[in-house]
Amino acid sequence: MKNNAETSSLGPLGYYSDALETLKANSSFRQVKDIKQDGKYIILNDKRLLNFSSNDYLGISSDAALCEAFLKDYAIKNAKISNPSARLLCGTNSIYNELETFLANLFQKDRALIFNSGYHGNVGVYSSLVNSDDVVFVDKLNHASIIDGIRLSKAQIVPYKHLDYDDLRSKLEKYRKKYKKAIISSESLFSMDGDIADINKLAELKEEFNTLLVIDEAHSFGVYGNGVGICKEQGVLQKVDLILATFGKAIGSYGAFVVGNEILIDYLINFARSFIFSTTLPEISVAFSYFVLQKRILGDSKLQKKLFLLNDTLRNNLKSFNILGESYIAPVVLGENERAVKFSNKLIENGFYILPIRYPTVAKNTARLRISLNSGMEIEDIKSLSDFLNSI
Ligand code: PLP
Repeated sequence: MKNNAETSSLGPLGYYSDALETLKANSSFRQVKDIKQDGKYIILNDKRLLNFSSNDYLGISSDAALCEAFLKDYAIKNAKISNPSARLLCGTNSIYNELETFLANLFQKDRALIFNSGYHGNVGVYSSLVNSDDVVFVDKLNHASIIDGIRLSKAQIVPYKHLDYDDLRSKLEKYRKKYKKAIISSESLFSMDGDIADINKLAELKEEFNTLLVIDEAHSFGVYGNGVGICKEQGVLQKVDLILATFGKAIGSYGAFVVGNEILIDYLINFARSFIFSTTLPEISVAFSYFVLQKRILGDSKLQKKLFLLNDTLRNNLKSFNILGESYIAPVVLGENERAVKFSNKLIENGFYILPIRYPTVAKNTARLRISLNSGMEIEDIKSLSDFLNSI
């Protein structure tokens, strides 16, 4: 930490400078890196590293044949690259409506609504559906965008222990009656622990305590449930009021959407400020998401099967480590921030791009390496990573 004389000379910037120094002292300082993608590798500081840090779980963004076919198809259709206007002004052309209809059918729901990103989606959903008379019960590990949306709404946030539905029940018993409307909110596949919610259980509690149930499938859409997600895999699509999923992870594109019944979607179109007051997604991103869904995600489970095989191999080869969850997000818990940073640096020096996830993103003393797999990798890649981790 700098001394007072030094920071006070910075005037109004002193506070911010101190905050950054504190992050540095706690090994929590974040920096944007210059990274070049090269298939399953990235190039960082002229070094080629196997990329175990991407959410592109099916390797779509490095599927050259797919990208080439898309660009050809798109050029033939003479479509525009961008569409700089809000959806409700002149930002909706047929491709947005076609994709929304396609998604609604896929999820067996009335309607879908595209948002600019998962962050926009969650902020729009929670900030509009509830207000200061209401309550939202959230899994403790829910994503920041969900929490930010609830904070904007001014509704009461009641966190329950991660995946602990007895704790959720006791919180519902204690708090539900004190508020008007209520939502139970959970991710389906948790991004930091790689584990999976029991959505049937959540649906039972939603019925019993008269709440809405909103599920975030950001990390499972495209992979589980033949590409539709975990709600589909668990046979619970009809019991979930709103499902949010993103195009920026397994679909390898950008953007997000929610699906639900007519009333809720119309409500979001009219009240979700992140939908109303923001320029729509570029048309090319919407078209690419649609193309990927049709050509790679649905109807053929080759990529998904490969991902599950890579995951089994990794988890079998790293039995001596504390790896959380069960999915292709495989977090290796190491404890303190410094330890995770040290491991990550060693891995990067040796050709594996795996970043540390630190407090405050995860709970204190659970800093971890978040290994995320993708179908573009080979079994040999997984073996070389596990051999290296087992050797240090
Ligand atoms: N929801 C979850 C569970 C996420 O992990 C993320 C992003 O990491 C988001 C929402 C936000 O999605 P996007 O990156 O499209 O803004």
